[in-house]
Amino acid sequence: MSHSSSIIERIVIVGGGTAGWMAAAALAHAFSGSTKSVSLVESEAIGIIGVGEATIPEILKFNARLGIDEADFLRETKATFKLGIEFDGWRRDGERYFHPFGGFGLDMEGIAFHHFWLKACADGQAEPLETYSMAWQAAKRDRFAHPQGGPQSPLSNLGYAYHFDAALYAGFLRRFAEGLGVVRHEGRVVEVQQAADGDVSGVKLENGRVIAGDFFIDCTGFVGLLIEKALKAGYEDWSAWLPCDSAVAVPCDRNGPLSPYTRSTAREAGWQWRIPLQHRVGNGYVYSSKYLSHQDAEDALLSRLEGAALAEPRPLRFATGRRRECWKRNCVAVGLSSGFLEPLESTSIHLIQSAITKLISLFPARTSDDGLRRQFNALMEEEFVTVRDFLILHYKLNERDGAFWDQVRAMPIPDRLIEKIALFQETGRIVRRDHDIFAESSWLAVAIGQGLVPKGRHPISDVLTPKENAGRLAAIRDSIRRTADALPQHADVVSATISRRRS
Ligand code: FAD
Repeated sequence: MSHSSSIIERIVIVGGGTAGWMAAAALAHAFSGSTKSVSLVESEAIGIIGVGEATIPEILKFNARLGIDEADFLRETKATFKLGIEFDGWRRDGERYFHPFGGFGLDMEGIAFHHFWLKACADGQAEPLETYSMAWQAAKRDRFAHPQGGPQSPLSNLGYAYHFDAALYAGFLRRFAEGLGVVRHEGRVVEVQQAADGDVSGVKLENGRVIAGDFFIDCTGFVGLLIEKALKAGYEDWSAWLPCDSAVAVPCDRNGPLSPYTRSTAREAGWQWRIPLQHRVGNGYVYSSKYLSHQDAEDALLSRLEGAALAEPRPLRFATGRRRECWKRNCVAVGLSSGFLEPLESTSIHLIQSAITKLISLFPARTSDDGLRRQFNALMEEEFVTVRDFLILHYKLNERDGAFWDQVRAMPIPDRLIEKIALFQETGRIVRRDHDIFAESSWLAVAIGQGLVPKGRHPISDVLTPKENAGRLAAIRDSIRRTADALPQHADVVSATISRRRS
């Protein structure tokens, strides 16, 4: 511990995008009743990125920890439910698969369901994997229900997340945080002030005012005003593996049912997202500028909208990678300032949440605690790396035509991923690391969906005869299908939820 360390009383968050207001809400909630103060500085003139609209199921825990009511949340952020992601054309044009939230089938004899599915495939008796997914069977019917029932009920094997309007979410969290005493300062930061030992001591605004603090959270987005511009934490560039570096985003009117899933459609030099909200559909084309001009990307996106565009198309540039030290001195980077892995699996907001949760659990008593800092940085690195590898898997296994797709199919990939793919291919086993946010079923869905079918499987699957196995699989499939047919429409569940008042 450094001699100059002092007790932390004033926490200053710089930046008021999704990261800034999530951090403000969670820290104010965690420290409510203590003497610590939380303040936030943001600049309306600079604005926020605001395109993060799709999430993964972990977001439910964040809202629950803050005591946020689901009905309030849906109403205020125009949110919808999300059961997973449909990947259209990612292996080849005309083929699609689904990455569902929640598992496949039912684990049996102490091992994962997919080994029995692989056995049925070998016996020539299996239906496509997606027919054993409750989430996909509900999603393809535009139906939804909350997870419920005991382990034998297919609905207990359902996971869900949300799609929401990012600007409305930031506003919602701002009201929540201000209600807990967070003080907001408006203004552009023009200087990051550092003490003699190098710790950040304050940020100076354009109007000359200095916001002093003991501990800083850098939520300034890609620029990394504190963590990089002042503290030079360094950036590890991962664009050799994740070469998309640009996007164009535009909302449009919805034309069709309210689907409870995100769609990702492979395109010439990247992919296009479709995210249905209550009041509009979010669309974007994520692409590599090496293979496509901005104008061509914009034209392609606009020509494929399902309804009238509701705003001017918005261009975005980014470099995939991660900050080498997310926590340096008395400053922690949260959000885009800590790295960005492109939005393919909607992980960015989760990485914000995860950084905040880790920070709260490792929060130091004094400004400089190297042990906690090292632990935090190691955990964040591990998490970024597992997300990175999961994203690379989608690109690496493609069988599409075109220069962009040839490049990502041919690229060398990290050793850890090579081993993972080889083990799966040989044995059907998916080995997850402790901090892997993706379940075994997620890796399975993408690997199988991209055409990687294992040669081997768990030997316990052979305790069932082919006939017994086929019978069990048929029963599971039927139960899922019947359950899906009986579910309410997603749009009706959204309407019923937002019209519910707190009891
Ligand atoms: P920003 O939104 O950029 O906020 C930065 C804040 O810092 C702003 O308030 C700004 O005013 C302030 N600031 C900056 N400089 C200064 C200064 N000098 N003085 C004062 N204030 C300053 N994530 C998902 O989870 N799901 C998705 O579907 C998804 N889709 C995405 C699609 C694209 C194309 C991109 C680029 C990102 C996507 N993301 C997604 C990521 C998501 O948008 C971000 O994680 C999220 O918005 C958090 O951003 P942020 O708060 O870190 O930064």
